[in-house]
Amino acid sequence: MKAKARPCKAKTKDGKPCKVQAQSNSDFCTSHDPERQKEMSAKRKSVWNSYLKPKDVGPPPTTAKELILVLGETINHVRTNKLDANRGKCVAELCRVAYKLVGSYEEDVKKYTSKLEKMSDEELLDQIALLKKEVKMADA
Ligand SMILES: [Zn+2]
Repeated sequence: MKAKARPCKAKTKDGKPCKVQAQSNSDFCTSHDPERQKEMSAKRKSVWNSYLKPKDVGPPPTTAKELILVLGETINHVRTNKLDANRGKCVAELCRVAYKLVGSYEEDVKKYTSKLEKMSDEELLDQIALLKKEVKMADA
C-alpha cells in the first residue's frame, strides 16, 4: 500500500509552509531534510578541503617565474571550477602587486651590483664595513 502524500513540515525563507511533498522516510522534502543538509554540508567541506590546503600551496612566490606558475595554476583552478572566480581574481591581483615588487627589487639589486663593480678595493672594504655595522644594528 502506498503511503499518502504528505507536505514537507519545513517553512520557506519567507516563513510560509513548504509546498513540496515530503520524502517517504521523512517529514521533509529533500531540500529541507536536516539529515540531508548535514550530509551536503559535510560533502561541501570535504570537497573544499580536498584542494588548496596550505600544505599544497607551499612557500609564497618570490620570483617572476614563480608568480607565473601560480597564475597558471590559478587559471586552471578557475577553469576547472576548483576555485571560484572571485578567489581567482584575488590571486591574480596579489600576483600583479608581487610582480611589481619583484621587478623593483631586481632593479635595486642590479643598481647596487653595478655600483659595487665600479668601486675601488678600498671603497669595497669600506662598503663591507658599513654592511657589517648595519647587520649588527639590525641584530640588536
Ligand atoms: Zn520542504
